[in-house]
Amino acid sequence: MVLTFDVDAESCVLAEDAKYADHPGVMSHQAYGPQVGVPRILALLAEFNIKATFFVPGRTADTWPHVVEAIAAEGHEIAHHSYAHRRLVDMSADEERRDFDDAMAALGRLGIVPVGHRSPLSSPSVRTANMLAQHGFRYQSTLMDDDRPYLLDTTDGVLAELPPHWILDDFPQYAFLPDPVIGNAVESPRKALEVWSLEMAAMRDLGCLFVLCNHPFLSGRPSRVQALRELIGTTLDYGDVPILTAAEVAERVHADPESRHKRLHTTGTPADQRIGSEHSTSNIS
Ligand SMILES: [Zn+2]
Repeated sequence: MVLTFDVDAESCVLAEDAKYADHPGVMSHQAYGPQVGVPRILALLAEFNIKATFFVPGRTADTWPHVVEAIAAEGHEIAHHSYAHRRLVDMSADEERRDFDDAMAALGRLGIVPVGHRSPLSSPSVRTANMLAQHGFRYQSTLMDDDRPYLLDTTDGVLAELPPHWILDDFPQYAFLPDPVIGNAVESPRKALEVWSLEMAAMRDLGCLFVLCNHPFLSGRPSRVQALRELIGTTLDYGDVPILTAAEVAERVHADPESRHKRLHTTGTPADQRIGSEHSTSNIS
């Protein structure tokens, strides 16, 4: 099990439209994450003495530096989640590189050197994995073509891929906001717990990697943290499911000679004509 928290805060609504910066209702909804959700989640993790991975957009690091520092101070992993939380697949190569560098600089100002990345909105471009490999990243947790980790070969190096999936994401369960519309779900935490517990049990049977993706502005709410507490307790009760950070799993995947290798899978231009190309576009039909 890997517990991941995407600390999107304001970034995901400002990526929709900068006008929301002057919308106190929307800003307050997003600020709940760093202000209330993160401390509550940190307390939960401390209860069990387990470490998690927090994917932090650069904008969050610049807006809430003390919150990000508090996460790091408790020994959790901080990973790269773009700067502005915009869809990478829609960016030009230059835009994507600038956003990537801005995020590195924002984390760097807090003394953080990330080794892992998750694309915002599940929107990597065909260039993203190469860029990560060029910068010495060890893993990404973005692609959904598997439920066990594997090694993603690029022309610039090898990344471990730790596949997430919407079934283990809190957006389909809890995301509700009328403007901008980020979702229409206010499901019972009992239902979310059922979905995630059933998947945990089945993944344990099959030897899969369970990558939970939660967002503090959603899952930091009281009954939702309680459900997460139950999920962690159930998992620990199995006695044979380690709870690790994404970086720890990535190192195991790199070290394991049995790890499978894949290449980026798309259905447009053959991959070998695209991978490593700074000048390619993302026009994939
Ligand atoms: Zn995000």
